Amino acid sequence: MGHFSITQAGRSFLLVPESGSRKEDGLHIDFDFDMSQPACPVCSLNDVLDFPDHYECATCGHEWEREDNASDATRIVKDANGNVLADGDCVTLIKDLKLRGSSEVIKQGTKVRSIRLVDGDHEIDCKVDGVSMALKACFVKKA
Ligand SMILES: [Zn+2]
Repeated sequence: MGHFSITQAGRSFLLVPESGSRKEDGLHIDFDFDMSQPACPVCSLNDVLDFPDHYECATCGHEWEREDNASDATRIVKDANGNVLADGDCVTLIKDLKLRGSSEVIKQGTKVRSIRLVDGDHEIDCKVDGVSMALKACFVKKA
């Protein structure tokens, strides 16, 4: 008996053959070697325990929050009617909008093609008559 080892991605792991997992104080710990597990931000080792709401480093005991996977997703921008907007959409202004720093007004009903969603309080980056501008999504509707 004793230990055997597996090698994955150039790393060796020691496994206890008779138990792929163990129960401890009602806590279920799986010994999987998912290489997507993060490294500890403190000691940089990746012997990390994977809890539903946080990670814990088995080496130094440091605990930290799980990354919210949704943060990678494109944020959802909705028009005045609650329709979800996407890059490349064509929208129509629902009210007259004054251009900042000029007396020019873009009229209600103006069509804006190929919008681009950006961060910030003006979510829509676009060109109207060849002029780049930023619009708030709440002042447009999907065309
Ligand atoms: Zn650590």
